[in-house]
Amino acid sequence: MFETLSNRLNGVFDRLRRRGALREEDVAEALREVRVALLEADVALSVVKDLTTKVRERAVGQEVLRSVSPAQQVIKIVNDVLVEALGGGEGDTGIRGIDLNAPSPVAILMVGLQGSGKTTTTGKIALRLRDKQRKKVLVASLDTQRPAAQRQLAVLAEQAGVVSLAIVPGEGPLAIAARAMDEARRGYFDVVILDTAGRLSIDEELMAEVAAVKFATNPHETLLVVDAMTGQDAVQTARAFNERLAVTGIVMTRVDGDARGGAALSMRAVTGAPIKLLGAGEKLDALEEFHPDRIASRILGMGDIVSLVEKAAETIDQAEAEKMAARMQKGLFTLEDYANQLKQIGKMGSLSGILGMLPGVGKIKAQLEGANLDTTILKRQAAIIGSMTKKERRTPDIIKASRKKRIAAGSGSSVQEVNRMLKQFDEMSAMMKRMSKLGQKGMMRGGLA
Ligand code: GDP
Repeated sequence: MFETLSNRLNGVFDRLRRRGALREEDVAEALREVRVALLEADVALSVVKDLTTKVRERAVGQEVLRSVSPAQQVIKIVNDVLVEALGGGEGDTGIRGIDLNAPSPVAILMVGLQGSGKTTTTGKIALRLRDKQRKKVLVASLDTQRPAAQRQLAVLAEQAGVVSLAIVPGEGPLAIAARAMDEARRGYFDVVILDTAGRLSIDEELMAEVAAVKFATNPHETLLVVDAMTGQDAVQTARAFNERLAVTGIVMTRVDGDARGGAALSMRAVTGAPIKLLGAGEKLDALEEFHPDRIASRILGMGDIVSLVEKAAETIDQAEAEKMAARMQKGLFTLEDYANQLKQIGKMGSLSGILGMLPGVGKIKAQLEGANLDTTILKRQAAIIGSMTKKERRTPDIIKASRKKRIAAGSGSSVQEVNRMLKQFDEMSAMMKRMSKLGQKGMMRGGLA
């Protein structure tokens, strides 16, 4: 979601870096460009002013101009200011999951406009709580406006493997809420998620209805769901809901789209409520925790290595990874191992999604995407290895011209592609051997600990 902003800021910082010694005008010029980039990303004007003022004050205060690497200093200051704007700060670990620290059943009230992704997010949160935190979850739809809404939630609940409150035709929202709380208590549920009705725009009737439910159920969390694609409107929506309902957290959905990201930066300043979660797709597992520091790094093109590693840990088969690591430590790395690795990387999803989390890749990513960057490259390489005989995979040295031709034909690729793959494998294999030698000398363990 932050791609355009990220590219713009990177351009600004690149120019700054090339200067070496900075004059005050250079910093001022860079700040003007940062300001324009933020405005173009749809960050609220008041927030932009506040951000740039803070950066300027600190840049002057810290005597950036005389420091060893002034550009780096400026970037660091912008980073800190972004982290703060996104809701991180001193003594804040930045982890903002849902707060369940209350006697059970803990009630979570979901509020927001119609179409914001409320019901989908209810299903996502239910799945996460059941799957990751082993909670017993009950969900209930209080949406008596849209005839299909209650059914929709029941279907999502089934996919998420949680219980949904039985539908009683003709029952009003308050009665449903009371029944849900009652059922949660009697059934010893840990969490009950109440999905309220939305409207297309904010109206008094809607607010009054949701406020009445909030009063009656006294939820521990009131989560506002907003659509990131609506930009500045999302911020206005959040302001209105927060004034009436005192929300405890915000979930931004559709961050997988090409939203300009400004709303995320304005949210905290305008509402005071933290963004807790991000919805990044239609599937039930497309829910991410919101970490201000990681998002700031992503915006500044410094990458989000922590999320990348976490994603890898979630998708990659642990037993398989350990087996592979053990072989590598012994310096054993064959084409079969390589094919295995390609398969694991393929499981992590789109390559461009992965690349987005790597430092400094934002810029080249756009170019790579032009060259149709996706997992087809991996699949091609895997196909090449698949066309080899067992013997060839174990002793690639025997693969000469005629074998290459056969392998290329068998995998629907060219001899050049086979060569490229083999070269890449050679380099990796040489690196593994070096690492393994270091490991045997005991340097690897000592060096990495
Ligand atoms: P509600 O009216 O607020 O309950 O909204 P729904 O949960 O019914 O969602 C409306 C549409 O948005 C559905 O088609 C969802 O699949 C889709 N949706 C919800 N969250 C996301 C998201 O994070 N990313 C994308 N791409 N689509 C989403």
